[in-house]
Amino acid sequence: MSAPMLGFKRPNHWRFKLGAFEIIQLHDGQLHMPGPKPPFGTDQTPETVAAHCAANHIPSDKMENSYTCTMINTGKQLVLFDTGNGSAKQAGGQGFLLKAMAEAGYTPDQVDIVVTTHCHPDHFLGLMEGGQPTYKNAKTVFGEKEFAYWKKGDDVPDWRVPTREGFLKNCLPFEDKSTFIKEGSSVTPGITAVEAFGHSPGHMAFNIESEGQRLYIWNDVTNHYVMSLQRPEWGVHFDHDKPAAIATRKRTLDMVAHDKCLAIGFHMPFPAFGYVDKTADGYRWVPASYQMNFS
Ligand SMILES: [Zn+2]
Repeated sequence: MSAPMLGFKRPNHWRFKLGAFEIIQLHDGQLHMPGPKPPFGTDQTPETVAAHCAANHIPSDKMENSYTCTMINTGKQLVLFDTGNGSAKQAGGQGFLLKAMAEAGYTPDQVDIVVTTHCHPDHFLGLMEGGQPTYKNAKTVFGEKEFAYWKKGDDVPDWRVPTREGFLKNCLPFEDKSTFIKEGSSVTPGITAVEAFGHSPGHMAFNIESEGQRLYIWNDVTNHYVMSLQRPEWGVHFDHDKPAAIATRKRTLDMVAHDKCLAIGFHMPFPAFGYVDKTADGYRWVPASYQMNFS
């Protein structure tokens, strides 16, 4: 008797302790697309990027963009960082956050705070499902500068017009009941906002601390675990202000490597938490292995 072929399968949630907090990594899905160049290495020759891919054991004509939302249970509050692509995108392989959340043992009604790190569709589309707020009991948090930019909509480039339309539909309705944060704002005790402008005008990162343990959520400061880490100075199509994005990327990677701090990036391969090493000409993503399993 032969067993049936069951097709590709991977886990969609992961939970570990950080001090008194629980961190829950929830996979919203993935997009298979041409790349890495473009969108990465926009200022490099195809040969340079292809050689870099070969050296890192990844193809140079296709890539996976992975989407991982982070949830933190502080013991008092359940805080969700970004809401993924929304279930309307499931045919394309994204929008499975609620499924991952259910399988991890949570309901959307339990979420107390939803933080949107920046207003790009893969981070905000899940705020609404069927025209209704997905997280009915949650207070919403946005970066002050980010929200103001998309609300005003003055110098949105043509290719980002659909992003603004999505913002008007999915984020703007929350304006009156939202909290707007800036550098140093506390989301809840142990979760502090840090400016990380560049990828988007008001992108925010977060420093997480509990009982002397630390985690840095940098989300879209890097968008590819090889290209953004090893060559942080290469041009990235997705970055709004390219020089600012490069400066933020270098500053963030340098700090995380120097502090030997656990880090989370939304587009790092699932489960999307790990460490950073400084190398001779850049940095290196070191996925966590068993460091966080002792609880
Ligand atoms: Zn993103």
